[in-house]
Amino acid sequence: MRLIRERCTGCAYCVLTCPYQAIATDGWAEVLANRCTECNLCYYVCPNDCFVPDAPLKPYRPRIRQRYNAVVIGAGIGGLMAGAALARAGHSVAVFEKLGFPGGRYTEIDYRGAAVTTGAWTSLGPKSHIGRFLADLGIQIDYRSLDDVGLSEQYSIRCPDRRHSPSLLELLTADARRAWLRAIARGRQHAPPDTSAHDYMASFSADPDLLGAVDAIAATASGLSCHLMPASEYVQITLDARLAGVDFAMPTGGVRTIIKGLTRTLREAGGDLFLRTPVTRILVSDGRASGIELAADRHVEASVILHNGGPGQLVQLVGPQNLPPDYLERLRGLKGVDCAALFCATRQPLFDDAPIVMTPGCQRLVGVFSPTRLDPRLSREGLHLYDAFFPVCDDDRRAELGLAWADMQALFPAFDQSLVWYVPMFFTGAWPGTESGQTFGQTGEQRLDPVTPIQGLHLVGMDVKGSGVAGDLIPVGVRRLLDTLDCWLG
Ligand SMILES: Cc1cc2nc3c(=O)[nH]c(=O)nc-3n(C[C@H](O)[C@H](O)[C@H](O)COP(=O)(O)OP(=O)(O)OC[C@H]3O[C@@H](n4cnc5c(N)ncnc54)[C@H](O)[C@@H]3O)c2cc1C
Repeated sequence: MRLIRERCTGCAYCVLTCPYQAIATDGWAEVLANRCTECNLCYYVCPNDCFVPDAPLKPYRPRIRQRYNAVVIGAGIGGLMAGAALARAGHSVAVFEKLGFPGGRYTEIDYRGAAVTTGAWTSLGPKSHIGRFLADLGIQIDYRSLDDVGLSEQYSIRCPDRRHSPSLLELLTADARRAWLRAIARGRQHAPPDTSAHDYMASFSADPDLLGAVDAIAATASGLSCHLMPASEYVQITLDARLAGVDFAMPTGGVRTIIKGLTRTLREAGGDLFLRTPVTRILVSDGRASGIELAADRHVEASVILHNGGPGQLVQLVGPQNLPPDYLERLRGLKGVDCAALFCATRQPLFDDAPIVMTPGCQRLVGVFSPTRLDPRLSREGLHLYDAFFPVCDDDRRAELGLAWADMQALFPAFDQSLVWYVPMFFTGAWPGTESGQTFGQTGEQRLDPVTPIQGLHLVGMDVKGSGVAGDLIPVGVRRLLDTLDCWLG
């Protein structure tokens, strides 16, 4: 197996999938030729077509109907939510996914006895947008909440100088605490959309611990510094997290439990899901989308096409010539967020309070989530799992990783001795944290509308209208989409 290094964005899905541990990564994947058996599994989990098999693979030709009411491009959580809801409403639906697994950046892959996330750590639980959307679809999810494990705080605060506080409010002085509460209360009525979270908070208090914590929280939720995130988005994230309260939870078995629930619902309602089946073109004529093209020139017709593959793919699949210039400019102008996670397994727990640690003042790390604090069975070996999250500030991924590593050592003195294995996972370039960040001009109502200028072509997923915590804003856009589809599908 050959690997085109220039295409590698560092996600490490290949490392997690290879049964022979024949792929290593330090931010760029590398095939270890002496271990590779040419099983080709890596080929089917790479979002960026980095792998070139030694012998050409036989094309995969699933049995596909010629026509569906709705075709969904991409089986991320957004595509699956829309597909499952439409199938439940009685429409014929097919979801096409390029990768060998459904869920995109919102699922887990089994690696050395542990469930390692492909991106998202957790939903906020039953009261979140995702939780309510699933309940409306009749999908029952078993959650492990803070309450279930005897905790009351979602996050604690830990600084590289070894200061540690069990909650934000306990970290702050009485004055700073009052200032923070005032800022959130006022922001609830009206948070200025053109002021950054940092400047907004600084207008209430100059307390360095408060501003540092706000920065870590903003960056943990979005990969962006609080100088780039609008105050309105920070307030929304805080309110969403407060609403979850002690019901803050992760689905038992990990976020893939949600993906399994959606996939099951789609199929039980008669919908189709085709994995390893990339869509190569959206067919457009006279400003209307009429179907899709798959490999080997196969065409599938549809009344509506829902695109879950992000703005970059949209331009490629539709063709720039078919998009109005102002819309094309908008899509091309979206500024994605590059971020990374150092996923670690340790023999001893690194902390034993809230499942998330916000880490202000670090060189790179902004937050560390421990999924096994909520669901220890996510690691069969009894190891403790940690997803240490950081924004990527420089193209030298190896150097970025070095800074994150040094942060872990400063935060947790026992890190080196306790570490069993780790996988660095970068979300950059063509496979970023998000294609449109939670930044000015790209939040809430300013995000892309589910309706595109091409008739019959709609958007679902991360980049579509909605505010709040990362993936949890996706169902907001999906609901809007479903409302607008009534007129298309009857
Ligand atoms: C490190 C990290 C941590 C995160 N943590 C959280 C968290 O804790 N909580 C949270 O709520 N959110 C979190 N998020 C955000 C969350 O993962 C995303 O918002 C969400 O997964 C996006 O879902 P989506 O459906 O929009 O897109 P994706 O997950 O990107 O799915 C799109 C799918 O479309 C497929 N596709 C693309 N092009 C084609 C094509 N041409 N043909 C067929 N298929 C195609 C892709 O392969 C992919 O599977 C995190 C993200 C990252 C990167």
